[in-house]
Amino acid sequence: MPAILLQNGLLATFTEHDDPLSIPEARQVDLLIEGDRITAVADPNSVQPPEGALIIDCADKWIAPGFVDTHRHVWMSLSPHQEDWTLAEYMAKAPFTTTALTTADDIYVGQLAGCLQALNGGITTLVDHFHAANSPAHIEKAIQATVESGVRSMLCLSRQSTPTSISPFRFDNEPNVSKMQMEMLRTLAEKDHGRLCPDGRVTLGLAYDVQGYNPDEDKRVLSLVRELGITPITMHYVGGPQGASTGYKVRQWSDAGLLQGDCIFSHGSGLGHRNPDLKEWQLLKDSGASIAATPEDELGMGHGDPIVYECVRRGVKVGLGIDCALVVSTEMFPAMHFVLQTERGRIHRELSSRGKGIAYNNIRAASAFRLATLGGAEAAHVSSKIGSLEVGKLADIVIYDAASINLGGCSDPFRGITLHATGADVETVIVNGEIVKKDGKLVRKEWKEVAKQLKRHQKLLGEKLAGIDLEEQYKAAMPILRLAVE
Ligand SMILES: [Zn+2]
Repeated sequence: MPAILLQNGLLATFTEHDDPLSIPEARQVDLLIEGDRITAVADPNSVQPPEGALIIDCADKWIAPGFVDTHRHVWMSLSPHQEDWTLAEYMAKAPFTTTALTTADDIYVGQLAGCLQALNGGITTLVDHFHAANSPAHIEKAIQATVESGVRSMLCLSRQSTPTSISPFRFDNEPNVSKMQMEMLRTLAEKDHGRLCPDGRVTLGLAYDVQGYNPDEDKRVLSLVRELGITPITMHYVGGPQGASTGYKVRQWSDAGLLQGDCIFSHGSGLGHRNPDLKEWQLLKDSGASIAATPEDELGMGHGDPIVYECVRRGVKVGLGIDCALVVSTEMFPAMHFVLQTERGRIHRELSSRGKGIAYNNIRAASAFRLATLGGAEAAHVSSKIGSLEVGKLADIVIYDAASINLGGCSDPFRGITLHATGADVETVIVNGEIVKKDGKLVRKEWKEVAKQLKRHQKLLGEKLAGIDLEEQYKAAMPILRLAVE
């Protein structure tokens, strides 16, 4: 790969030295990429490009770290019509039903589309909770599509079963599925130390939502996975009426002796519900485990209010994510809007209930930018490698068109990227030193072709689903989900 010099652009990045609630100063720089890393960040027009380097003129451009999506089911770009579902409804109709009907070829297309959607909006790293590990072929196709897309991904294979039977509905933790998934995890981990492609952009993680079903099995799986160096380990933690079956997970992992600094709890909503277990905050902080919040769908599906800024105040690692691209936006921008304005709204509401107003918004827009970049890298336990633009870090970079319709009137990139940008303003995306979006267009794949395939596989899946009464599935799943509805 040739070296790349980003010349004279306005750099927006947090570093570990900046307070999460501060506003760092954007500055005009040259940024040099050699191989997969950033090798120089210096005054504008001061860096001599190596011979053969590609020079990108960044006047009127903003240079920022790629977003880190800490919780996404990437393959679910395949599965439409989820926009109005609650969490329990989603569980019953999607992971408990649709997932079991997918073929490995469906997964390839959904996964490829999901990775490209992320890249197009400037998300360069994914923590992918892959809960369609139905067969070795499903797993292999998911890896293939992810590697082909060019995104950086921690592909977390799930160790859990799909339903034993769709009709009548039965769900169990099947031994033969467990055996297959454990064999795949071992094989993939041992092949190249968990690197799923030669340049290490895609690595192996574990998704584990069956903790508590069988404590001996939990111990066996988790100790083997940690022995094999598989990281991170991610699991859902919701609690409350919509997510009763996944409540108090931090406490449960700790009590079982499984809680460590490689864990990522998705949502953590239980910490904001009635009757929270307040000891869990301390357990999170002491262990170094993190929260992956997905504010847009948490608000819409009934998880509860995002607990993100409470994590920031308490010094618990926290990042943002999308969860499912056909429930909410494919992009990180709405996640930043929702988390920021929900917190501001909460503060305003609390004060006004006491007859008070507020003179200044102390939660600044830049704080949401940090959550989506360096905060995400911290939450994914990889902030020594990505999340900020500094010499020695991997070159995962987004270049924004600062003269665009959305951004042309805005001079501060932290505020502009948080509240005004969209994927249309993401002009260039670089992952691991490779340009994967250029002049507003994806480089490795032709999106229109992928979209055609996506529609074809959605139709095939829809034909299978047509024979199933999803409302009956929902009713049958309610006892498993421990859902109490009105
Ligand atoms: Zn999820």
